[in-house]
Amino acid sequence: MPIMIKRIGVIGAGQMGSGIAHVCALKGYDIHLADVDQAHLDKGLENIGRNMDRQISRGMIRPEDKDAALKRIVPVVDYKAFAECDLVVEAATENEAIKREIFKKVCVDLPPNVLLATNTSSISVTRLASVTDRPGKFMGMHFMNPVPLMGLVELIRGIATEEETFRTVREVVVRLDKKPVNAEDFPAFIVNRILLPMINEAVYALYEGVGNVEAIDTGMKLGANHPMGPLELADFIGLDTCLSVMQVLHEGLADSKYRPCPLLVKYVEAGWIGRKVKRGFYDYSGERPVPTR
Ligand code: NAD
Repeated sequence: MPIMIKRIGVIGAGQMGSGIAHVCALKGYDIHLADVDQAHLDKGLENIGRNMDRQISRGMIRPEDKDAALKRIVPVVDYKAFAECDLVVEAATENEAIKREIFKKVCVDLPPNVLLATNTSSISVTRLASVTDRPGKFMGMHFMNPVPLMGLVELIRGIATEEETFRTVREVVVRLDKKPVNAEDFPAFIVNRILLPMINEAVYALYEGVGNVEAIDTGMKLGANHPMGPLELADFIGLDTCLSVMQVLHEGLADSKYRPCPLLVKYVEAGWIGRKVKRGFYDYSGERPVPTR
């Protein structure tokens, strides 16, 4: 039998964590939202408020829905607060060492019945589960960006994930009006196994001078009917996240076809990691994004 979930902890108040808190709060879940400090939490809450305003202006929610949802989100900096949760979803930076530390720390004061999920885009669910004291109550819950708009959630069982954990998390996804699809615990699962090599190839095309940013993005929008160009999408995802996913694919599948493009590496090293810092393959400091190459 699935467990009744009422309160959800979310770790990481970046684009994904704030999106997950946003949709869960609108559906009536109480949320404890954590990040490294108050400044990151404030930014996350601001982001949630702004995105809800956009939904109000489009007639998707009412102002009173926003007020009620925001009241359900409690910012926390101490993981002890998660003791009151039924499920904790980790959505921190895509870095295995960071995630391992988080899960070790979270488990210290967490009652044994609380379920854990990771929103990782690529890292082994089984490996992350192994640092916790409850691999049976751990699984992958991979939301898409932006969470309020995207309809899919990939569900990934680790080798030890219990059926009750899977059914409970699946039920939460359905209650959020998202479509769950099952993916096996392989590097980057389904969506990013296919999407990220395409983005990496677009960066190679730029690196080799096959086309400039505008030509590559326009080519894929008008020539392949993609709603966003691959470089625009890379900036939206975050080039740091794109690089991490490519590194996980390259190491995990040991195939040179997944080699991250050196230009992607260089952009991340420069700190030009996309929209979130207003500089990636486009410059976002003005009214309209301007291609940088
Ligand atoms: P982001 O950079 O916007 O946010 C990451 C947040 O994690 C930051 O606020 C950071 O301060 C916080 N953080 C870092 N270390 C922490 C710690 N020890 N404790 C608490 N918080 C910590 O990144 P994002 O795009 O939100 O990605 C988060 C996760 O979601 C990653 O695993 C990523 O792969 C996954 N994901 C991203 C996308 C996407 O399109 N960006 C899509 C699906 C899944």
